[in-house]
Amino acid sequence: MSCTRITAYYSVDSEVYHVCQNCTLGDNIESDKRQSGTPGKRRMCQRCKDIIAGRVKR
Ligand SMILES: [Zn+2]
Repeated sequence: MSCTRITAYYSVDSEVYHVCQNCTLGDNIESDKRQSGTPGKRRMCQRCKDIIAGRVKR
């Protein structure tokens, strides 16, 4: 599976942000907690990195 890139988004109660629309972790964010951008000291989600690197099969 390859990363479907969209504007970075994150959950207000998480310390990571997501860049792949198809990240399963990002997809689990509740809609009322989901925000756009990469504020603070958030790092990119490890699963998003793995998807970009081609290490996620599905
Ligand atoms: Zn992610």
